[in-house]
Amino acid sequence: SASDLFGSPPAEGPRAGGVVQVLTPVALDDSWTYRLPDDGVVVPGSIVQVPLGPRKVVGVVTAETPTLAASSNRLRAIEKVFDVPPLSADLVAFADWVARYTLTPRGMVVRMLLRAPEALDPEPPVRAVVRAGEPPERLTDARRRVLALTAENEGMAWTRSGLAHAAGVSPGVVDGLIAAGTLAEVEVPAGPPFRRAEPDFDPRDLTGEQRRAADELVGRVGAGASVTLLDGVTGSGKTEVYLEAVAEALRQGRQALVLVPEIALTKAFLDRFAARFGALPAEWHSDVGPKTRARVWRGVAEGGVGVVVGARSALFLPFRDLGLIVVDEEHDPAYKQEEWATYHARDMAVVRGRIERIPVVLASATPSIESRVNADRGRYRHVVLSERATGAAMPTLMAIDMRRAGPPRGRFLAPGLVSAIAETTARGEQALLFLNRRGYAPLTLCRACGHRFQCPNCSSWLVDHRFRGRLACHHCGHTEPRPEACPSCGTLDALVPCGPGVERIAEELATLLPERRTVVLSSDVLGSVQRMRAEFDAVARGECDIVVGTQLVAKGHTFPKLTLVGVVDADLGLGSGDPRAAERTFQLLAQVTGRAGRLCGRGIGVMQTYAPESPVIAALVSGDPERFYAVEIAERERGRMPPFGRLAAVIVSAPQRERAEDHARALARAAPAGGPVEVLGPAEAPLALIRGRHRLRLLAAAPRDHDLSAWLRAWLAAAGKPPAGVEVQVDVDPQSF
Ligand code: ADP
Ligand code: ZN
Repeated sequence: SASDLFGSPPAEGPRAGGVVQVLTPVALDDSWTYRLPDDGVVVPGSIVQVPLGPRKVVGVVTAETPTLAASSNRLRAIEKVFDVPPLSADLVAFADWVARYTLTPRGMVVRMLLRAPEALDPEPPVRAVVRAGEPPERLTDARRRVLALTAENEGMAWTRSGLAHAAGVSPGVVDGLIAAGTLAEVEVPAGPPFRRAEPDFDPRDLTGEQRRAADELVGRVGAGASVTLLDGVTGSGKTEVYLEAVAEALRQGRQALVLVPEIALTKAFLDRFAARFGALPAEWHSDVGPKTRARVWRGVAEGGVGVVVGARSALFLPFRDLGLIVVDEEHDPAYKQEEWATYHARDMAVVRGRIERIPVVLASATPSIESRVNADRGRYRHVVLSERATGAAMPTLMAIDMRRAGPPRGRFLAPGLVSAIAETTARGEQALLFLNRRGYAPLTLCRACGHRFQCPNCSSWLVDHRFRGRLACHHCGHTEPRPEACPSCGTLDALVPCGPGVERIAEELATLLPERRTVVLSSDVLGSVQRMRAEFDAVARGECDIVVGTQLVAKGHTFPKLTLVGVVDADLGLGSGDPRAAERTFQLLAQVTGRAGRLCGRGIGVMQTYAPESPVIAALVSGDPERFYAVEIAERERGRMPPFGRLAAVIVSAPQRERAEDHARALARAAPAGGPVEVLGPAEAPLALIRGRHRLRLLAAAPRDHDLSAWLRAWLAAAGKPPAGVEVQVDVDPQSF
């Protein structure tokens, strides 16, 4: 994995008198020299405000030797030192490591460390009205109401207007009581402190298998760096197991970070956490507002926050004393960040764990090939949970061969699957139909002339979103109304949808099983995390019979009444030529079918497929995942594919195809021949046009132990700066091809 490369972080460098280096959040590797402020004290890691050209930016003081002397008249001074704990040397070393490995400018990684600018200044106290003295003898009705309210809610901090509003009086009444000395306005700290998670609030009774696994993880906490793969079948209770390790970190007075793929951050998960520890964890993901973000960031830095549950960017939080990192669903593609820095949060978690000398737990029912190989070769500890915690049996999986038992023309659900859905729902149980395609149909075609609707900016078809009445591109967000007539030949009513999306499957079910309640769960129907949590809860309460969903529903919390999972197109994703396609498909199918019968053990998974003999489908139907891992690992080894070799993708893009092509060719020519690294391409990138930019791809392949990042840096430097308009993007360890 990524963490095999590069040594330990550098020791703190010298700081010369009067000047320091400051790293600013711009797309550069360099730090700049600044004069110390007259009053403030800085140390490496201090967060400061400095002038940068005409702007003021927030930066971090580094331990590097200043490049300019204090006497230089080009020097500008640090303007302000923020009153927050300095970033630790470990965190700064981690940021440097990420920058170096991913070829991201150090300044951009600094930007990831400072993702809550509001956190840098302490929250100003708020003015609140409190009881201050005896009430006057004669009280008006209005005054009596105000005082009754303050008496009933002792200890509550009211604002002047809030109190007046709650009592149903004018603010003048409150002012009168302040003037009389009965109430007073005082300054109180903003926001309540974080509730402490209590490690022994309500421990759960674990099964024997869970107990042994938990003991293994608990034993690692406080015992230096380690990585453990917690490999447990769906429903084996991995969460309860790693929460024991979280509890141990808290007992030792340290903090814990639990990373989850964004979507898995369900309300049920948080409730479960609260039941175990008596307090909700701090949350960190894209839906957390700036104010909360600031409070969490500061709480993490000061130590008031014990546990953070967050999406991949939580890995860059400034923990005061981190004792454990858990990466739940470690195989999930959502851990790959593709904008700004392209990094894989699971790999970077392993690196942070090593730098901080703490344990990292990778949890999954379907581990990534990388983690499985690391566990098999003894680089990671391997803890296995082979039974469901509830004692429920694993679901029975079967394949429907669409070549022989497929649906009638114009339909997408095989008769066998439809009758299974009918029987399941007739018993009052729920069925889930999984199709990883949003919208109604992935392609629209004119029956008269063959015209296909393509995105004007991308090399992709427009997806029919019938519920919204529009055609939409899933890559750039372009949408247009669905026309009545073909724009190419003008024929009316000749447009036909090709293939199914979730909306079309819901429509088919409405026709076939009209009396059943069906809901569609996909990101365009749900939008916000709040909305999604509410919908998931509604399904868990049994408020519908059939759920049709995209990968959004593949994971997440348990639906107690769900006993049947149907996969509409189990082959989708296979045959794309992507070396990870088989792994991804296996993981997704195991995950989604694993939702069936979690509690009762009568789960059934039905996969519609045209290739029942493929290793992925065969391994799932046989109930023996090892059959898949053995084949896939051998295949990767033979092809020198990750983790047996290293890969990096270099994408060259430009608005004009020739310009992108010219620079991609120049890059290929600049690659040193005969070395251990082989450069393939340029070839068209899988999406050759996105948002109006033409894209070509080069692939660099290296042996496992080669420092590919250093090689890429030298190569790109030798090739020179790309011409204006041409962009070069590097993706080390690309996840898809
Ligand atoms: P996983 O993450 O391994 O798929 P979960 O941790 O979500 O599994 O647990 C699956 C279900 O089993 C949950 O409903 C959970 O409440 C239940 N469960 C877990 N541990 C136990 C236990 N020791 N006793 C009873 N039920 C348990
Ligand atoms: Zn587009």
